[in-house]
Amino acid sequence: MDKKRLENRMVFLVFLLVFFIPVKSCKKSFQRFMNKKTIKDIDIKGKRVFIRVDFNVPIKNGKIEDDTRIQGAMSTIKYAIEEGAKIILASHLGRPLKDKEKAEEKGMPYDANKYSLKPVYEYLRQIFVPENSIKPNEKNLETPEATSEFDNGHGNSGLTPQLQKRVDMLQMNSSELEDLIQNQMHGQICFANDCVGDKVKQKVENLKKGEVLLLENLRLHAEEEANDKGFAKQLAELCDVYVNDAFGAAHRAHASTDGITKFVNDSVAGLLMEKELNFLSKALNDPERPFVAILGGAKVSDKIPVIESLIERKVDKLLIGGAMAYTFFKAKGYTIGKSLVEDAMMPKALEVEQMAHEHGVELILPTDHQVVDSYDPLNSRKTIPIEFTNKGLVGLDIGIETIQIFRQALEGAKTIVWNGPMGMFEEKPFDEGTIAIANAVADVTAAGATSIVGGGDSVSAINQANLDDKISHISTGGGATLEFLAGEELPGVAALDDK
Ligand code: AMP
Repeated sequence: MDKKRLENRMVFLVFLLVFFIPVKSCKKSFQRFMNKKTIKDIDIKGKRVFIRVDFNVPIKNGKIEDDTRIQGAMSTIKYAIEEGAKIILASHLGRPLKDKEKAEEKGMPYDANKYSLKPVYEYLRQIFVPENSIKPNEKNLETPEATSEFDNGHGNSGLTPQLQKRVDMLQMNSSELEDLIQNQMHGQICFANDCVGDKVKQKVENLKKGEVLLLENLRLHAEEEANDKGFAKQLAELCDVYVNDAFGAAHRAHASTDGITKFVNDSVAGLLMEKELNFLSKALNDPERPFVAILGGAKVSDKIPVIESLIERKVDKLLIGGAMAYTFFKAKGYTIGKSLVEDAMMPKALEVEQMAHEHGVELILPTDHQVVDSYDPLNSRKTIPIEFTNKGLVGLDIGIETIQIFRQALEGAKTIVWNGPMGMFEEKPFDEGTIAIANAVADVTAAGATSIVGGGDSVSAINQANLDDKISHISTGGGATLEFLAGEELPGVAALDDK
């Protein structure tokens, strides 16, 4: 660090010491380890088991772009199949009703197909059915391979000759045809066009041991997010046992994560949920030290409770990158140019720094960053110390010095929690800082640390850098991970039966 910057830091330190009024410490209590029953604690043989999964995956042109969440749920689904349960899978996908409302307000087109779970059904049929040992039942007309084009959710295109013959013979109308298609079991998985109602009940009745029914997007019903009792009861009537494996949705008290548990005798955690809770609880309640947390992303406001919680938990070091660092810098009097900032959060940022100081937590902010000139963003990229930022510049990623400092801070860590990108990760080359931190976390994990990474962008960085098998635990929950780390109770977990 050069002399000028050292002087600057000294000035700010004096500023902090002289002007700050000590702030009262955060009162939030921490979530105790939750001793919840899991699917392995109860008998599910032959029972109708409703598994709330998180299949809220990115889908483009009918193709799944990232299957992490689906893969995450597979251990629970496979276990239930092996146990001979009749499995009902339910998930949300996006926010169909809210998006429809917005589109209508703005007079924009609304594409309802975007919110269907049919691509997930197609995906499951392809990757999952051939892998397991249970034979298709007598209702199956075709093997999954032979029918790969069959039920594609777009009418009768791709019908096998055998089925076409049957359709011709019966002279079905389109809705009868749709029903026939939906009732087929391909291998052992079928799809329902809705998540409640008589037709769905019938499909559940038809299920044999080891067979799976995927329901259509729960959020096509406003009652889901409203945690409507009647709707929750309708979902509950489909099953004997409720399993919540949707960690990513556990911070929401919705009908399928909370309400349903009031109407089912057994409500237990799935294996993914159990794994998520075990990793996060251990990190929060009994971390091996040194414990280093890395937070990034755009909004400080979203992460203040997490920062407070981690400081209270006496994380040893807290590294803050991404646009949220600018709120801290601006609050301390730096010029940050046109970089993203939350002015309203500046007092809070100062409070948090003071709190870290009082708790003996080392809060480390970037020292340099990659900037562009707001008038010539394409040609002006350079890396400069934070102090050299003038009012025309926009900071979009951490710089090389910061990467080194963060790397050093991580060395020797025994527990690492990371949420949020170090820069505008979606736009290359401003993903460099995030990818470098992903590599640093992987290296420290190889040296014996337990690493937990959550949040869409940080998880993408790990996947892009092919480091997914070098991280101890990649959390499927973004908001849920943050709420857990903030010490909040997750309604979807609280609703489950205790051991
Ligand atoms: P969050 O939802 O708060 O975790 O923020 C994630 C978003 O922060 C990503 O879309 C990033 O592109 C964005 N982001 C992170 N750092 C910066 C930055 N320096 N400038 C602009 N956007 C950023």
